[in-house]
Amino acid sequence: MLATLRRIVQEVNSAEDLTQALNTIVFEIKQSIAVDVCSIYLNLPDSSELTLMATDGLDQAAVGRVKLMMDEGLVGLVAERGEPVNLSDAPSHPRFKFIEGMGEEGFHSFLGIPILHHRRLLGVLVVQHIRERRFEEDHVAFLITLAAQLAASISSAEITGELRSNKSRLGKKKDIMINGIAGAPGVAVGNAVVIFPEADLEAVPDRSPGSVPEEISSFQAAVRQVQQEIVDLKKQMGTLLPAEDGVLFDAYTLMLGSDSLVAATERRIKAGNWAPGALRATIMEYSHGFDAMEDHYLRERAGDIRDMGQRVLARLLKAKPQQVEFKQGTILIGKEISATQLAEIPRTRLAGLVCATGSNSSHIAILARALGVPTVMGAADLPVGQIDGQEIIVDGYQGKIYLQPSSGVKSEFLRLAREEQELNEGLLREAVKPATTKDGLTTLPIYANSGLKSDLLPSQQLLVDGIGLYRTEVPFMVREHFPGEAEQAEIYESILRTFPDQPVTLRTLDVGGDKSLSYFPIEEDNPFLGYRGIRISLDHPEIFMTQLRAMLRASVGTHNLHILFPMISSMRELDESLSLLQRARTELQDGGLEVPIPKTGVMIEVPSAVYLAEKLARRVDFLSVGTNDLIQYLLAVDRNNARVADLYDENHPAILCALKMIVEGGHQAGKPVSICGEMASDVPSVLLLLGVGIDSLSVSMASLPSVKWVIRSFTRTRAQELFNKAMELQEPSAIRKMLDRALVDAGLGALVRAGKY
Ligand code: PEP
Ligand code: MG
Repeated sequence: MLATLRRIVQEVNSAEDLTQALNTIVFEIKQSIAVDVCSIYLNLPDSSELTLMATDGLDQAAVGRVKLMMDEGLVGLVAERGEPVNLSDAPSHPRFKFIEGMGEEGFHSFLGIPILHHRRLLGVLVVQHIRERRFEEDHVAFLITLAAQLAASISSAEITGELRSNKSRLGKKKDIMINGIAGAPGVAVGNAVVIFPEADLEAVPDRSPGSVPEEISSFQAAVRQVQQEIVDLKKQMGTLLPAEDGVLFDAYTLMLGSDSLVAATERRIKAGNWAPGALRATIMEYSHGFDAMEDHYLRERAGDIRDMGQRVLARLLKAKPQQVEFKQGTILIGKEISATQLAEIPRTRLAGLVCATGSNSSHIAILARALGVPTVMGAADLPVGQIDGQEIIVDGYQGKIYLQPSSGVKSEFLRLAREEQELNEGLLREAVKPATTKDGLTTLPIYANSGLKSDLLPSQQLLVDGIGLYRTEVPFMVREHFPGEAEQAEIYESILRTFPDQPVTLRTLDVGGDKSLSYFPIEEDNPFLGYRGIRISLDHPEIFMTQLRAMLRASVGTHNLHILFPMISSMRELDESLSLLQRARTELQDGGLEVPIPKTGVMIEVPSAVYLAEKLARRVDFLSVGTNDLIQYLLAVDRNNARVADLYDENHPAILCALKMIVEGGHQAGKPVSICGEMASDVPSVLLLLGVGIDSLSVSMASLPSVKWVIRSFTRTRAQELFNKAMELQEPSAIRKMLDRALVDAGLGALVRAGKY
């Protein structure tokens, strides 16, 4: 059963369009479980009905014509319940609806399975038999598994189909809307530039070829090179190989020169794709053919074909490295996007960002917010490979993307962008004022979070009280090896000097999780629970000490250095970190360099640290709560996983309890508590933070004006009332509602309406 399942899924994934995908499904299911009829009804976008889209066993003329309301017939019953309906005699069921001309007469047993994708009903899969007998458990289980696996493929085939039919339509285009997760606020209209990891053939997008003859000849050259490589490899292996394995090399060379590969790729280039895109399509089609074979040996060959494809791709890209042009209005798109890729694009050219994976608290989203780039994350249904160069709208407030937008939708978004600009300008005028509460009794220092040099400008000194979190891993990520002590010292000094009279908090290296260094790969099943942050630093004192010495050196003339340790989960880790810091200072002093004693802080971002807050605080000068990680660890929700992003909620009552504990712990030790996670940049949550007694906030530059406006509009007493009320509520959504209402009542409705958080 598993092999059949895999084969069907693979065939469907390689289908050219939705119709082919659905026809494959009904044909394959009918064959594999020997039923008399298999049909698929879909709830198409913009429709409230279920349309018969494919059938094997009923009248073909009914396809596209038969439409059922969601509460109509047995198919409607499956849709309503969202559960399988298994009947031995369908016509005797009260919900049975006879439709003339479908050819359903004579079929008794009926099994309907809902096809659900992200809780949305995509359609219903139906199998029928002439004989009167309920379907066996095995078949029900098989079809449930298959429907669950096919849902994503059907959904993406639907979108691809819409894209194609828009292209071929001469008249009015249809807006194609794709849901994702709001990553960074703002809206943008621009053109898609798809980036992809060069090592991944499957990720290569379609792109139009510059010159067809040139693309063809570079493809042919790449094939010849790989063929030669294989011949050389066979020679090298020489006598070491048994004769039958040597033959395999010859088979690879033949396969590479075959018509199925060469001619088919050239045909695709001529039809308007660049060589890497054409190669990807050919290799995928070819290898899926082998994947689908019953014979185990032949099935294994699919891997060889992909491997050959990968080698040709590497040659192609090496001969002609990708030179992507980032024009004004670039919307950067990728399955995954790294900090390095983001940093490569001039900010003035970058209008928006869309990532098919990840969520609102992924590091790339945090960077995008710092840069003020409207962003949508986790857009899993986005056909990344097919939208390069196309016009696209990014709605970073709602987490939506519009492909091939109509002029109406486009002008609406351009209007929104203008309004947003006006609101921002108004907020910015206010932002130079201090964050003093309405009664004048409390002034909260507001620091900035940073990581990229480009998000730190001397002019921002006027707006912020210092840097509350400088993520040092970002300069590490954009290099090809660990930066040396002098190089690091230079970077840190330039930051310390940008804000000479204000505290600047440099966090020690926090790689691991979703932040990787190409030159220090970490392969783990559970990276967020694995080798991360301080754990790496303590295991590698050579890296850690270099960084600490560089920080200390940088502070010699500035005296404003604060050092923050990430991911601390025990007293021992903190003690070791502090003692290495002391050693770094002594080493510098022994070398004749007198360095000021820096202030030190601990990040509270692991649940164990919440319970140790007071003890940890006694050892250092301040605590800083990393809510991004703390929320993921307390709620057991991977911050990078779009599937569970709905469960990641800063307003969860458990988070509020933890914050209260941390503030009490810090204050008992007589130390201030700051927040540097994204919760501090979330406007409604700022009320809770003010209420719980936080001493300062470190926020993204983009949200700083609104955060200050909120604090200036409330008293601490009112915020305390709201915090206490929130602690009595059960649902994060109820807490959110209460906070939104309080913001509107205080005259901040513009922020709530604009969703400016
Ligand atoms: C946090 O976890 O809240 C934090 C600020 O650190 P990072 O987002 O870099 O993991
Ligand atoms: Mg963190």
